[in-house]
Amino acid sequence: MKEDRNDFPPMKGSCYQDSCFIVAPDGEILRGRAGRLKANWYINKGCGIQVKENPFTVRLVPPLKGDWNNSSSEKHPSNLTCYLVAPDGEILRTLGRKNADWYLSRDLAKQVKEDPFTIQLKSEPKWRPVGVCDKYYQTPKIIRCVVCGQTESCVRKNVVPKEYRKHLPNILKSHQSHDVLWLCVTCHKISNNCDQALRKRLAEECRAPTGAIDKVKATKDPLLKKVVSAARTIKSAKDRIPFDRLAELEAIITEYYNVSLLTSEVLEEALKIGTQSLNKEPHGRKVVSCYVQKPEGLLSLEILWRKHFIDSMKPEFLPPYWSLDHNKERLDNRMAQNRVDREDYVKAVGRGEAV
Ligand SMILES: [Zn+2]
Repeated sequence: MKEDRNDFPPMKGSCYQDSCFIVAPDGEILRGRAGRLKANWYINKGCGIQVKENPFTVRLVPPLKGDWNNSSSEKHPSNLTCYLVAPDGEILRTLGRKNADWYLSRDLAKQVKEDPFTIQLKSEPKWRPVGVCDKYYQTPKIIRCVVCGQTESCVRKNVVPKEYRKHLPNILKSHQSHDVLWLCVTCHKISNNCDQALRKRLAEECRAPTGAIDKVKATKDPLLKKVVSAARTIKSAKDRIPFDRLAELEAIITEYYNVSLLTSEVLEEALKIGTQSLNKEPHGRKVVSCYVQKPEGLLSLEILWRKHFIDSMKPEFLPPYWSLDHNKERLDNRMAQNRVDREDYVKAVGRGEAV
């Protein structure tokens, strides 16, 4: 750790104010305001080369490594497709090498083939693949950009962004890679920009502001904080506040609203604005709770994002069996097999669709 530190310039100074460019192998600008330290970091790690002095520009070399945690190269062992098969040899699903090793380390499976790396369960699985949805997981994945087909420098794209996905019930998250697709860095960037439009739409539809502005305003704006706090104090302890102090508190509110008298309506208004602006609920969670209430359930939120991805990016290289309404059939099957929690199932498919 110490040695690493000594490699870097000191933590203060002009190096932090520099605006450096980090560009993709094809020249696409990935970051326009990276610090010089960051830029040097790529060079030191062998992930980038300096291509210009002014402005200082680093071009990443494929495969992208380091800071791009999600990035990967086709040859990286953890990404090679492995197969998980039942005791009778039926392919249950494909999986990464890391997951395959997990089964082996727990003695749940044995290796039966080296290439492609195949492991066989030692006991009968609780389930067997059924239908098109499970076929998706039985088919090996090729690491290439699903939009342009490029195989170099691909990064994972969450079609349903993480800010929503993390609030979904487990049955829509665990063992689910359907909505994680490979994109080259250029397409990844374009796609992320396109996502802003749908985020905005959802913010309006679900009254779930995306920006940190409201929160910042409410928590950082000293005047607003004072108004809210004064209103709360008056509301909760009006009879116990000394006269002078009460006059002071009232003045804070009346001045803010530009009124001469603190009526109960004004007081309520101040209290309401306080709670409304203290937008503590994150956008993603609010959108998810909004979609839970819909008759079509949370699957409709997934479908909305998938459709948005298709419409905005027009991908031509989607993996086989990838589909807009991926989960419905899968969940119905699992419900029939008693493998999912009923409450989560209803949240997912909606009250109107539950079987
Ligand atoms: Zn691409």
